Amino acid sequence: MNKVGFVTGATRGIGKQIAITLAKEGYDIVINYREENEQLQETKKEIENLNVKCLAVQGDISRYEDCENMVKKVIEKFGKIDVLVNNAGITKDMLLLRMKEEDFRKVIDVNLIGTFNMCKNVTSYMMKERNGRIINISSVVGISGNSGQANYAASKAGVIGFTKSLAKELASRNILVNAVAPGFIQTDMTNVLKDETKEEIRKTIPLRREGKAEEVANVVKFLASEDSSYITGQVIQVDGGMLM
Ligand code: NAP
Repeated sequence: MNKVGFVTGATRGIGKQIAITLAKEGYDIVINYREENEQLQETKKEIENLNVKCLAVQGDISRYEDCENMVKKVIEKFGKIDVLVNNAGITKDMLLLRMKEEDFRKVIDVNLIGTFNMCKNVTSYMMKERNGRIINISSVVGISGNSGQANYAASKAGVIGFTKSLAKELASRNILVNAVAPGFIQTDMTNVLKDETKEEIRKTIPLRREGKAEEVANVVKFLASEDSSYITGQVIQVDGGMLM
């Protein structure tokens, strides 16, 4: 029986690459999406072409009931979840002076509460199995802070504190919980930045380039695998040396 990996926000960007990388390792894959579109169908097809099962589940992770329903569907189909990757996330950048309360709240709702909603619903099944891996996608900004990203940085710092707490709570049940903190990765999220801004950011990276989604996915693959069986409560930076 294949292991089952559940990736939120998996139709594009880093999430899609994580789903494909785990599929290549032989996992059956659950991809979460918000709206049915071509990207979803393409991702599903790419995964199925790797000869594993792929279940797509619709849901907004910031809504508790959506997470509950998605997890129920996965358990009905596969009977278990071995690896949960909380990847879905958003930004709504603005200096504090002009940041609307709703934009602060929305980012916390998706990035932090969404991670809670998923973990809360998945861990009971992992606890029964006395086995599981949870990998939360944070950000280097959650460690360093960033001007114009007070909402995002707070949400990602929250994810780190949440990860460490869960790691302590769940270790006795053989559930390992870690976070990955990407730096500047080439996806739709960073493509919105102006070329000059991208160039400025590149100058702060010792490796002098953006990271690729695959480079984040490979670390997730490691944290999901038996090779990381003695690692829990850690934050692994994938940032080309951006933050040391
Ligand atoms: P992206 O290309 O913007 O993709 C984000 C994904 O999250 C999309 O699939 C999106 O779905 C999904 N999503 C957003 N809100 C959701 C919700 N409420 N419920 C379910 N799905 C939702 O972003 P990315 O760059 O791949 O980022 C992935 C993760 O890495 C995020 O947590 C991000 O904060 C983190 N990260 C990224 C970078 C970077 O440089 N790119 C750096 C550090 C950390 P839709 O298609 O429906 O919008």
